[in-house]
Amino acid sequence: MKIDLPKLPYAPDALMPAISPLTIEKHYGVHTRNYINTLNELKAGTEFDDMGLDEIVRKSDGKLFNNASQAWNHLFYFFQFSPDGIKEPSGKLREAIDAQFGSLDEFKKKFEDAGKTLFGSGWVWLADDAEGKLFILQGKNAENPMTKDLRPIMTFDVWEHAYYIDYFNRRDEYLHRLWDILDWNVIENRYAV
Ligand code: MN
Repeated sequence: MKIDLPKLPYAPDALMPAISPLTIEKHYGVHTRNYINTLNELKAGTEFDDMGLDEIVRKSDGKLFNNASQAWNHLFYFFQFSPDGIKEPSGKLREAIDAQFGSLDEFKKKFEDAGKTLFGSGWVWLADDAEGKLFILQGKNAENPMTKDLRPIMTFDVWEHAYYIDYFNRRDEYLHRLWDILDWNVIENRYAV
């Protein structure tokens, strides 16, 4: 069963200036598509072929894991943005952020720091455990919190291909600007389930 690259719910220029149309074209249209194409080639005719993407990420390793998890991570990343999203969390998620990190600003600073200090390629994650306790995690390369029995809630891609066109090597600026396009409604819904 082939996995398709879904159409993004916004126009290629909708996330400007935080993310340019050229970055969307390359990062989603080329990099993400390539991970999905390679995943489809690798899983065809294997025990993984009829599994959903979540299950493949949980059960695979090596090259298949790298491509499946990169596909998963990129869909999770691109579908959390919106040009007119909710700019601050509320409800249960806001309460958990305030209780664990002191304030939304403190949380954002810690999240950005985790992204800044991750050496090399990877992802910074917000995840929770079965009790709803939040964790900020650094993940190298294709890592995903699901493999540690944590549930992903939000992620910022810190592979260089995510920011090099728009920010050159200024990863910190890129991370800071992503708050402008993050739709907290999406994040709240992920936490509420
Ligand atoms: Mn990426």
